[in-house]
Amino acid sequence: MDQPAALLEDVRARIAAAAKIARRDPAEVTLVAVSKTHPAERIAPLIAAGQRVFGENRVQEAQAKWPALREAHPAIALHLVGQLQSNKAQDAVALFDCIHSLDRPSLVAALARAMDKAGRRVPCFVQVDIGEEEQKGGCAIAALPALLAEARSAGIPLAGLMCVPPLGLEPAPYFALLAKLADDTGVAGLSMGMSDDFETAVMLGATHVRVGSALFGARS
Ligand SMILES: *Cc1c(COP(=O)(O)O)cnc(C)c1O
Repeated sequence: MDQPAALLEDVRARIAAAAKIARRDPAEVTLVAVSKTHPAERIAPLIAAGQRVFGENRVQEAQAKWPALREAHPAIALHLVGQLQSNKAQDAVALFDCIHSLDRPSLVAALARAMDKAGRRVPCFVQVDIGEEEQKGGCAIAALPALLAEARSAGIPLAGLMCVPPLGLEPAPYFALLAKLADDTGVAGLSMGMSDDFETAVMLGATHVRVGSALFGARS
């Protein structure tokens, strides 16, 4: 078996094992293969091995890489996992099937306008600044209810909440907090967990794990 397929099988098995411990159905967990920085030649073997959901963190990079790959494989879903500038909202709505980084009112407005114009509704996760880190993207916890209300009234389909816990700290309390916030605010999905912590995230209710280096190797 070639290496990407072996890594994919390993990640899937680890998701299934974590789900089993939490008495969850592994089918509730979507593996988003984060292919940022990796060229099409590295992505193709994962597609061949059956992976269908991919994540990118930059609109321009995704625009360069994905149209050709998707032409060959129309069933692929592409997720935006990185910060989004309002002036790229239209491009993002045209290209992505899901956006994980809705985090401020100005972006709600820009995405709502772009979706109206395109006649296409793209589900969005609201990114929460779960560790209250000033330099990080994400909406402040205190501002979350208002932002969700704005997104709802703008007609943006809400996929759930997303977070990236503070680097170097035990992530479990942050994942548990995100799950509680989703419960409190009545949204269903939880985009949480990366290569180093996706099993913990699955045990704490993740519906989407965003895994890059465990599938593709380290980024240069
Ligand atoms: C790069 C990235 C990931 C994947 O990170 P790995 O540690 O390589 O799995 C997940 N989420 C976001 C927002 C990212 O930017």
